[in-house]
Amino acid sequence: MSRFLAAAAICLFALTLVAPATAAGDPEIAALQVGLRQKGFYAGTVDGVLGESTANAVRRLQRRARIDVDGVPGPRTKAALGLFGKRSPLGKRILVADARGWDVAALQFALASHGFPSGNFDGYFRVSTERALKQFQVWAGLPADGRAGSVVVTALKAPAPTCPVTLAPPVAGPYTDVFGPRGNRFHGGLDYPAPSGTPVSASAAGRVTFAGWSLGGWGNLVVVAHAAGARTSYAHLSQIGVRVGQPVESGQRLGRVGSSGNSTGPHLHFEVHLRGAAVDPLSGLRR
Ligand SMILES: [Zn+2]
Repeated sequence: MSRFLAAAAICLFALTLVAPATAAGDPEIAALQVGLRQKGFYAGTVDGVLGESTANAVRRLQRRARIDVDGVPGPRTKAALGLFGKRSPLGKRILVADARGWDVAALQFALASHGFPSGNFDGYFRVSTERALKQFQVWAGLPADGRAGSVVVTALKAPAPTCPVTLAPPVAGPYTDVFGPRGNRFHGGLDYPAPSGTPVSASAAGRVTFAGWSLGGWGNLVVVAHAAGARTSYAHLSQIGVRVGQPVESGQRLGRVGSSGNSTGPHLHFEVHLRGAAVDPLSGLRR
């Protein structure tokens, strides 16, 4: 390797170490993180990024397994994860309900990154994973058979969808938690912490398709349908000021911030969906 290439490789490696947690993480690294979590070597976020904390967890596993301690997850490191690690990588077998292992964890992470989260990243192909897989198959125009073979794996390599409409901020004020991995789950929207009663407004013109109490933890929820198959959702409201079927303008008041449903404090949980897939609201939000 030339000196230049070596320097470039070191730069790339350094970049990898400081890469932020994003929805564009590598499903194979996410599966490694799930395996490390299950063995008690990693307590960080399952973000698909081989950062310093993940490399340190790999080193702890390597030390325990008495193999070369280099922080690089090679075949012997995967083997040290037992049966879980043997199921690597995603795509080597067709995944169906009740499957377990590395490849299932990678599938769960890839589905979430494409807008179909299914609860905990745990490497178990249960009902929630099957439901998310079938939703993705419908979304991608594939037969919804709940089987993840090479066609599904290839479809999941395409870039995740983005928001096709321009969005105004639904709350005046900053957001905190973003769209992406959070712990060993996936946060499907943006959180705007704000005092209870803060006005919540429509992010774009559209028509109200849901306004009321939602099962599933969202509390008082408003959903607005927009052009191009986009929908915005406004959850945990303390008050709802619109009704189903009502047309709304961008910036029109929909309700007020609250903490209804499964929420630990007053905030707006804001989601954007495109034909059923959760997409990163930041891809549409006007800056
Ligand atoms: Zn949230």
